[in-house]
Amino acid sequence: MASEKEAALAAASAPADSPTIFDKIINKEIPANIVFEDEQVLAFRDINPQAPTHIIIIPKVKDGLTGLSQAEERHYEILGRLLHTAKLVAKQEGLDDGFRIVINDGPKGCQSVYHIHVHLLGGRQMNWPAG
Ligand code: C5P
Repeated sequence: MASEKEAALAAASAPADSPTIFDKIINKEIPANIVFEDEQVLAFRDINPQAPTHIIIIPKVKDGLTGLSQAEERHYEILGRLLHTAKLVAKQEGLDDGFRIVINDGPKGCQSVYHIHVHLLGGRQMNWPAG
């Protein structure tokens, strides 16, 4: 299996706005363990969890937002909605003692899927600085 770095580099070489595996999850073409869904966002359990609770939160419409580095003023609403959904899901998951939000961006940020997403991690003590 490719290393995290190789996977991130391979994904980064794909056309900026091409469909990703997350489009297949949104369209229910592949299964995902969905924990929250509304008109704008979808949240599902990460298939390779890095904590007892590890959930990915994505917008259903990417609108060019492959990663945070591509954000423009028109994305303010969806960016706020992703974070607010993370808070709602954290509550739903019982992460009352705290949690961590991560947004990986670009090859050096170890981003592997180029459809903006928020990682919600919890259920264990986090360390700082992050790796
Ligand atoms: O930030 P990054 O792009 O690396 O995160 C993508 C995440 O999507 C990974 O944590 C990966 O495990 C997760 N994933 C998933 N289900 C898939 C494909 C990827 O949960 N089918």
